[in-house]
Amino acid sequence: MSNVPAYIATSVDAPLEAGTVWRRDVGPNDVLIDIRWSGICHSDIHTVRGDWGPTVYPLVVGHEIAGTVAAVGSAVTKHAVGDRVGVGCLVNSCRECANCVAGAEQYCLNGKTGTYAEVDRDGTITQGGYATQVVVDADFVLRVPESIPFEKAAPLLCAGITTYSPLRRWNAGPGTRVAIVGLGGLGHMAVKLAHAMGAEVTVLSRTLSKRDDGLQLGADHYFATSDEATFTDLAGSFDLILNTISQNLALDQYLELLALDGTLVTLAASAEPITISEFALQGQRRSLSASTIGGIPETQEMLDFCAEHGIAPEVEIVAADQINEAWDRVLASDVRFRFVIDIETLPALVG
Ligand SMILES: [Zn+2]
Ligand SMILES: [Zn+2]
Repeated sequence: MSNVPAYIATSVDAPLEAGTVWRRDVGPNDVLIDIRWSGICHSDIHTVRGDWGPTVYPLVVGHEIAGTVAAVGSAVTKHAVGDRVGVGCLVNSCRECANCVAGAEQYCLNGKTGTYAEVDRDGTITQGGYATQVVVDADFVLRVPESIPFEKAAPLLCAGITTYSPLRRWNAGPGTRVAIVGLGGLGHMAVKLAHAMGAEVTVLSRTLSKRDDGLQLGADHYFATSDEATFTDLAGSFDLILNTISQNLALDQYLELLALDGTLVTLAASAEPITISEFALQGQRRSLSASTIGGIPETQEMLDFCAEHGIAPEVEIVAADQINEAWDRVLASDVRFRFVIDIETLPALVG
């Protein structure tokens, strides 16, 4: 076992600070990863700030991890020292329930183990990717294809799979009309992926301020939701709407934008209860659903799809000592479009 440099949350409201985090010995089925890049997800902030309930401190967050294999356990065959690999939001599950067997480990019936702030099968609390190294079970380590720029690979592990999975589940492709609500970290990936799948893509954003970006990312249309006419002009226009906004939306208004049998899928978690009118669903036999990340096989499929189609997120690189500032900017929606931490800048802060 060893302690490695990390950037750590010590309480619900204190700034993160440099320190160290404990990593277990490499077991027979484990992979030791030298982390090179670590994405900043809004969930990191929600977790530390207690928005989703109490958590444990000290805590290292980060579930968009890209790095290189430094060592493997004796039973590991899928990964070798030097390989480029990724770890997303999952580091363990029961592997025996129907959902795990089907490759939907995120819906493990016995409880998935998230990459940070959750109790692992060995009883320890998981600690995430704002650190120089991590030890992860080989079954939860993904291959990062060489053609994906390494610094852009990390956000695919959460923002990428979170949008890819529902686009596949609801058959986005040629002939389908997909609307993406919000053009942040998730939204911009949803636009790129839906466009690459062949769907007709519309961005619904509060204002038109990011319109040029949206069209460049692959959107066919772009509308402002602050303009009431948007909701009358686009009524019944979409087969699938992905909501990537954290705040509560007036869902009835968005449901009315769906065509017959259309589905509105919410991806961003808000702890607040939602209310909808049954009439908004009945009117065109619409559905409301929600989706969270993706399973391990589907995450690998997403990485391979991105490599094949030349898709990668737009990122801003930050040094480790800029993480607190980056968090403030995420909260202000001031990022194009995902922050990625250059982990090579971290050890110098620990001394
Ligand atoms: Zn995330
Ligand atoms: Zn399971």
